[in-house]
Amino acid sequence: MKLYLTLIIVFFLSTNTSAQKNNYRVQVDHINKTLHIETCFKQAPDYLHTISRNAEKLIQNIKWNDKPIQHRNRYINLPDGKQGCLTYSVNSKQQRSRLNNSSINKQHPHDTVLEISDWLWKSDVYNQYSEVTITFLHDTGVNVSAPWPLISRNTNKTEYFVKYTPDSWVGYIGFGIFDILELDISNSKFNLAIINGNNSFNKDSITDWIQQMTGAVASIGNGFPIKEVQVMVLLIKGTRGTVPWGQVNRHGGSGVFFVVNPDKSHRELISDWTAAHEFSHLLLPYTPDDRWLSEGFASYHQNISRARTGLLDEKSTWEKLLAGFERGQKTANKYNAPTLKYAKGRNRMQMYWGGAVIALKADVALQQATNGRNSLSQALDKLSDCCLDSSQEWTARETFARLDKITNTRIFSQLYYQEVKKQSYPHYQQMLKELGIIQKYNGHIILDDSAEKAHIRKKIING
Ligand SMILES: [Zn+2]
Repeated sequence: MKLYLTLIIVFFLSTNTSAQKNNYRVQVDHINKTLHIETCFKQAPDYLHTISRNAEKLIQNIKWNDKPIQHRNRYINLPDGKQGCLTYSVNSKQQRSRLNNSSINKQHPHDTVLEISDWLWKSDVYNQYSEVTITFLHDTGVNVSAPWPLISRNTNKTEYFVKYTPDSWVGYIGFGIFDILELDISNSKFNLAIINGNNSFNKDSITDWIQQMTGAVASIGNGFPIKEVQVMVLLIKGTRGTVPWGQVNRHGGSGVFFVVNPDKSHRELISDWTAAHEFSHLLLPYTPDDRWLSEGFASYHQNISRARTGLLDEKSTWEKLLAGFERGQKTANKYNAPTLKYAKGRNRMQMYWGGAVIALKADVALQQATNGRNSLSQALDKLSDCCLDSSQEWTARETFARLDKITNTRIFSQLYYQEVKKQSYPHYQQMLKELGIIQKYNGHIILDDSAEKAHIRKKIING
């Protein structure tokens, strides 16, 4: 008993001593697109580190207590245990990224979007117990957008608590002359930064677009699955399409990043699927080793969510899903990855739409087995109570095991072992027929309400 108690005390002390408390003070020079960072320690850690190769090219003027020091192989060694301050600058103009080219810089002379691991070097003892804050100091009129929980924001200072997530997760900050709107939608807060630069734009149109797309995804469950989300919209003229780039990020919290062409109309923005897709990713935990699950379920819900709020009618929803299923089937036939689980790269469509077939199959099987008392939407809604706002990576197997537990069935793991792990592409023709989705020519369909499972089809659309 005594030994047990001692072990507890030792454990408590060791977790406490390893808990790192520190603050980064970041002076934002938006004109030169540069950050000047200072972080001080009562007892310096062994080193600071980042996983980004880009970070080595961006970092300048590294000093420990005002004396120049060097970085090496993405490490900055510090005098372990000594008191002092580390300072360094990060010049984002050196970044090699799709976000740094002459056209973007011309349109955004004073705005920067930068990946977090490109500038934030972290101590060797940084872990989930660390209490790290970042204070950005900036000129009046300048704003900072970041995925972390906000502590405070005023005209010259923005402070965040740095929520722990694994270093391999991607996230972005934005800084420059733009507004941040706080939107409350379905009990969630969306911090929307519209980074317009020199481009004129319709603020109401973009705000309405985000409201409608997050509202659509919120209609899948009982509200939006995540309580606070960073949304950055970077306006770039001359891009192809309306939303040429959308990306969901998980570093430090949930963030969604879009590139939008400001010349496109509100109608074009509302009929684009990208935002519904990206926000749908947040219905599931992060599954980096099973992209088929994340992409498949997002591809399914980008359509179902829009149907639920009337952005798509029933017929066009099924036409879009069917078109996707067929695109996936084509790459599966052409390249034949051994199973859906290993489909990636050139099997992109197989991965996205094969995963979407699995989502539909789970939805149909669940409704059938429970006489409509349960559905995929309800199961995903319950995931938000336990599993979404975590710093953990999940596998598809773990996610499906949890969904089985939530629904008190074996439907998800059966699908995983019988289809995902065995078949290069799941069969869907028979299921569509049973749902009353009859394929005609040129991608058109007819809906047959007398089909055996037409009621399930309708429930999927109406929720
Ligand atoms: Zn996606």
